Amino acid sequence: MKKLENINFAGKKALIRVDFNVPLDSQFNVTDDTRIRRALPTVNHILKNGGAVILMSHLGRPKGGYEEKFSLAHVLPTLSNLLGIDVKFVNDCVSDDAFAASGSLEMGQVLLLENLRFYPHETSGDLSFSKSLARHGDVYINDAFGTAHRAHASTTIVAQFFENDRAFGFLMQSEIDHINKFLEEGKRPLTAIMGGAKVSSKINVIENMLTKVDHLIVGGGMIYSFIKAEGGQVGNSLVEDDKLDVAKSILNMAKEKGVEIHLPEDSVVADQFSNDAATRVVSSDAIPEGWMGMDIGPNACAHFREVIMNSQTILWNGPMGVFEMSNFAAGSKEVAKALADATKNGAYSLIGGGDSVAAINAFGMSEQVSYISTGGGALMEYLEGITLPGIKAILD
Ligand code: AMP
Repeated sequence: MKKLENINFAGKKALIRVDFNVPLDSQFNVTDDTRIRRALPTVNHILKNGGAVILMSHLGRPKGGYEEKFSLAHVLPTLSNLLGIDVKFVNDCVSDDAFAASGSLEMGQVLLLENLRFYPHETSGDLSFSKSLARHGDVYINDAFGTAHRAHASTTIVAQFFENDRAFGFLMQSEIDHINKFLEEGKRPLTAIMGGAKVSSKINVIENMLTKVDHLIVGGGMIYSFIKAEGGQVGNSLVEDDKLDVAKSILNMAKEKGVEIHLPEDSVVADQFSNDAATRVVSSDAIPEGWMGMDIGPNACAHFREVIMNSQTILWNGPMGVFEMSNFAAGSKEVAKALADATKNGAYSLIGGGDSVAAINAFGMSEQVSYISTGGGALMEYLEGITLPGIKAILD
């Protein structure tokens, strides 16, 4: 497999799959440009080395045709501004105009194609659509880790048309390196912190984590399924009654593998799902009827902090409570602080999955951890032990 830094881009056109699926406000302004910024090193490297760049991405979930709110034209001002050049744009990705635009592109220039998902062929992984996309470039670079778990035309199928001229972009390579640093090379003790709403969406990740880690800290809404499975009273907390046997088997599997599971001993409970609700701190297995667990309690925070501070390698996915409401953000904030302190002491910390990233950004602590992944679903599948199709297509 070729590495990006070993490819000679002089006189070449590089077709790069990026992830510009960024949030827009009602005026179509980009409200968070992180994903665009993270694509810049690859683009700048190719331009600096004498190449031209054709960028392709999806934005949102269009129904299969043009929809103004999903046009990548909205991303153009931010992209041009960040790159410091006038990026060209064409309002389709495989039309005659699109090929004319990439055909006439000069070295040092950048062209952004319109949203790939205006064609249903993108998500269906259509072969002839992929072959058309391939006409735009001499080299194919995949730098879209966020969609690497999808066997779509632009993320996977297109790679076969660049047998000897394909590589990961710098962002994709660094995502892979950082996740492997946790999964394969992590110094012990190794700890995974899993939170979020539901156990059902994290079962496979948790099961794979149990084959890797020394400690598994569990927070968020999913804890109440574990606690109920153990016979505790969880009041009106979020519970997946059809997943209690799964929760139980995870607890048994942890015992078999010698993994220490840490559930929060206390919870902040509320009498309604609202920031204005009345609150109390109670034992997590004795939540009265009419009350629901909204965050981990102060004893759990202290306990989790101790585990985190004694770990050398830590992964955090999913908030500890309903952090979007200020009265239930303390648990996630304490975990974020402990991660930052452990990192300062030399531990390696990896944060990934939409909501824990949103939480650490909201607390202003994103600079104090080792690495923040851009992957949501892709990261989850990687952590499950699946070889992602977008990665395999480059390696094959
Ligand atoms: P996920 O996407 O599965 O990582 O879940 C993130 C969501 O879980 C966030 O929107 C949180 O508000 C929610 N969440 C965390 N703790 C709880 C809880 N105790 N009860 C209900 N929802 C929760």
